[in-house]
Amino acid sequence: MPISAAEPLLAVRAVESGYGKIRVLHGVDLTIAAGEVVALLGPNGAGKTTLLRAVSGLLPVNAGEVHFAGRDITRITPRDAARAGLVHVIEGHRVFTQMSVTDNLLLAGYDLPRAERAVRIEQALSLFPEIAAKRRERGGALSGGQQQMLTVAQGLVRRPRLLMLDEPSAGLSPVLVDRVLNVIGQLRQQGTAVLLVEQLLEKALAAADRVYALVQGHIVLQAKTGESDLPHRLELAYFGHESHAQAAG
Ligand code: ATP
Repeated sequence: MPISAAEPLLAVRAVESGYGKIRVLHGVDLTIAAGEVVALLGPNGAGKTTLLRAVSGLLPVNAGEVHFAGRDITRITPRDAARAGLVHVIEGHRVFTQMSVTDNLLLAGYDLPRAERAVRIEQALSLFPEIAAKRRERGGALSGGQQQMLTVAQGLVRRPRLLMLDEPSAGLSPVLVDRVLNVIGQLRQQGTAVLLVEQLLEKALAAADRVYALVQGHIVLQAKTGESDLPHRLELAYFGHESHAQAAG
């Protein structure tokens, strides 16, 4: 569905979510434009993963709304979200180690027409030459970093309009981190929006157009990554010195 230039691709408005009676998100607002790369930063336990889960339908949204591509997806299932072009690569997702790399990718596109699926798998693999070279090997034969790349490639088979990546660099060597973040740059060039949860502040700032800082379930700062003094402001925000009022301005 086409959306107007003024309307964001993703709009999260006043979202509250959590686990049973435990409320983790306290009225979160966040937008992402088509083709924009946004980093979601914040200390451990801030609710970053929870927000991604609420957006992709893995967790119920208790209050507020989520709109994607002009459609209300507040109560969507993860499967329908993926079909609509919103793909969530979950933190620590494991590949099927007994299946080949190709079969792992085929599975990710299980509901696509066969010819279309083949094209998309080739496109996804073109971004990851290392795993393309190992396509016939078992998933378990890949290194940890390569398996992580495979999970991102699985997400790309869905050809998302928005790809949500939860700590794709976790456990990777610095070289592989750069490789994964480089892919984000390529996706941006292709017009794919990315919401990136990342612990590595500098890397996240280099990869993203804008950042949000989430602390204790509240967005306490949003900024363009080019803004001066941003690492310092983020540090203040993490430790509670940048007020919520400033964040709203
Ligand atoms: P990290 O960077 O450590 O992954 P995060 O910002 O992604 O942190 P979340 O994983 O969203 O934070 O966790 C937010 C809060 O929700 C934490 O207090 C956590 O203990 C709690 N939490 C997370 N998962 C569950 C769960 N399945 N059941 C109950 N509480 C949970």
